[in-house]
Amino acid sequence: NKQVIYSKIPTTYPFPGEHLTLHESTIDLDTPLKEGEFLVKLLVLSVDPYMRARMRDPSIKSYFSALTLDKPLEGGTVSVVLRSNSEKFKEGAVVSGFGPFQEYAVVSKEAAGAYELRNGPKEIPLTNYLGNLGMPGMTAYVGLFKYGKPKKGETLYISAASGAVGQLVGQIGKILGLYVVGSAGSDDKVEYLKEIGFDEAFNYKTAGDLTKKLAETCPKGIDVYFENVGGKMLEAVLDNMNQFGRIVACGMISQYNRENPEGIHNLTLMVTKRLRMEGFIVSDSPEMKEDFIKDMSKWMLEGKIKYKETIAHGIKQTPQAMLDMLQGKNFGKQVVKVADL
Ligand code: NDP
Repeated sequence: NKQVIYSKIPTTYPFPGEHLTLHESTIDLDTPLKEGEFLVKLLVLSVDPYMRARMRDPSIKSYFSALTLDKPLEGGTVSVVLRSNSEKFKEGAVVSGFGPFQEYAVVSKEAAGAYELRNGPKEIPLTNYLGNLGMPGMTAYVGLFKYGKPKKGETLYISAASGAVGQLVGQIGKILGLYVVGSAGSDDKVEYLKEIGFDEAFNYKTAGDLTKKLAETCPKGIDVYFENVGGKMLEAVLDNMNQFGRIVACGMISQYNRENPEGIHNLTLMVTKRLRMEGFIVSDSPEMKEDFIKDMSKWMLEGKIKYKETIAHGIKQTPQAMLDMLQGKNFGKQVVKVADL
């Protein structure tokens, strides 16, 4: 039973073979199951930026507990139920849930609360349940509607725009009739953003002065900024925000792998422009889940939303896939395919 183990706290990036390592353990696939338990075989796993924040000294408190050293990495998974003693999760069911990164696992009655049956149309690929129909999709939906409060005709700017969350925020923005601008870290990614309907897109690594570039690409100023990166990008955005704009603070990935965070010199613009910058965690808004699944499935089936993924093959590739994602080598949502259904 191959497992991905969290073996050391990183100070910058988590490196394969050092911070994330591979182990082989044994599991009895015929083990008796207590009431409510079920045995799953892992099919796909998700590597996400928030997982880096869990690789920290456990004395530092945050909304999500620190990972435990020498235990399997945990995160979003799609699995198939091999054997079951549960009413809800029957043999053969495809389930998505939060679980350990190992090929086979017994899910206890208590842990079953973090699992759900495949909840979207069958024709949508399984990997998508960790992306557009999973946590990143829900993040885009909740972030834009609940915190961005977009109005038709407004300008929406998104950083890390080609990623799992960003590409969806932009396409939902277009469905709502917004002027949508995005930035990403390569020319290929920028090309993709234009293909999926962004009005403007630029490569932040080669753009030069970011404040000028934003003034050029957002000629009417920015009304909603979907913040995924923080740091220097946020400074440039503040200069270009319109009065009473909303900054949806979804993440600040440019800071996650640094030993010391970067400062913001123009934060007072929050006051003079009467901006609203609101942080959120996707799990705060379960009441939006039903609408999200309904709308996202519909948009996918109507072809209104395209979704790009980078798929690594084999559980052994997980540590490298995590590093690649944090370094921007992923193009769209990064997942790891572990086994076929
Ligand atoms: P992505 O698929 O966007 O992958 C991460 C991307 O971040 C990379 O591909 C890279 O793209 C970009 N990146 C990496 N380092 C930097 C850097 N130094 N400066 C700028 N960009 C960088 O990941 P997700 O879509 O899953 O996550 C996007 C953001 O949303 C993250 O900040 C994450 O923490 C946040 N998030 C928040 C949630 C919440 O509940 N609040 C839930 C889910 C995600 P590029 O090549 O363009 O640089």
